[in-house]
Amino acid sequence: MANLGNPRDTIEILQKYQFAFQKRFGQNFLIDAHVLEKIIRAAGVTKEDFVLEIGPGIGTMTQYLAEAAGKVWAVEIDRNLIPILKETLAPYDNVTVVNEDILKVDVERLAREENGGRPIKVVANLPYYITTPIIMGLFESHVPIDSITVMVQKEVADRMRTGPGSKDYGALSLAVQYYAEAYIAANVPPNCFMPRPKVGSAVIRLTRHKEPPVSVRNERLMFQIIRASFNQRRKTLQNGIGNSPELPFTREEAARAIEAMGLPPAVRGETLTLEQFARLSDILEENH
Ligand code: SAM
Repeated sequence: MANLGNPRDTIEILQKYQFAFQKRFGQNFLIDAHVLEKIIRAAGVTKEDFVLEIGPGIGTMTQYLAEAAGKVWAVEIDRNLIPILKETLAPYDNVTVVNEDILKVDVERLAREENGGRPIKVVANLPYYITTPIIMGLFESHVPIDSITVMVQKEVADRMRTGPGSKDYGALSLAVQYYAEAYIAANVPPNCFMPRPKVGSAVIRLTRHKEPPVSVRNERLMFQIIRASFNQRRKTLQNGIGNSPELPFTREEAARAIEAMGLPPAVRGETLTLEQFARLSDILEENH
């Protein structure tokens, strides 16, 4: 088994192990060598790199990563894929496969123990049902990360790059802006996967900023405020903040902070820029 990035070898190995796709795990395997090469190129993986792959599937992209990287850790939730990965990754001694839910993996510890705390690269064809928690989790937990290069739904890639005024603007757009520089490396049609997803996909590279583009005193609080504002999209910002069980502020405190910023009382969260959220967070904290 030299190279899995084609339909014939993929079908062969799936049949050999009588593998049944699990929809709940978002399993759409890549079967296009050009796309795989593009992902590796966009990620800029070198022999110096420690790469975390989320959801290796049958090991298609893992083979490419193993060739390009120093070390690869591949975390796969579906235990039915583990025997397949044993076979497809047998030629590589720089790959470790872990049968675990990525949301339960302590990535910070992994980077510390396996890469001496140096920044790691994350590369994945993500399971689409958990794209947002994976990306937000990686950024917010302050794992040392150089870049995240991932295949996501086209619509999610657009959401990551949008600003106020768009219906797609939300907590994910703001987190991506705050933590990283986003670049779309490729648009990928459904026929590059098996089975075919219903929607178009895109490869996006998120390169971590050395310094965030805005300064805020309490980053965690700012993201709690952002989440509270977008959780209740049709509510005004002061109600969103005042009603949030996550936040300690009253509606009156929220109203005063909004006024201090020179914004109208009925302003909605989705019209604020990242910079405005940072200022709002500082004002609320200062006056609480
Ligand atoms: N990397 C493979 C490829 O490109 O062909 C498979 C990509 S497929 C879109 C997503 C993979 O993530 C599947 O193998 C799925 O079983 C795995 N997966 C789903 N949820 C996961 C989770 N919570 N933790 C780790 N892996 C997960």
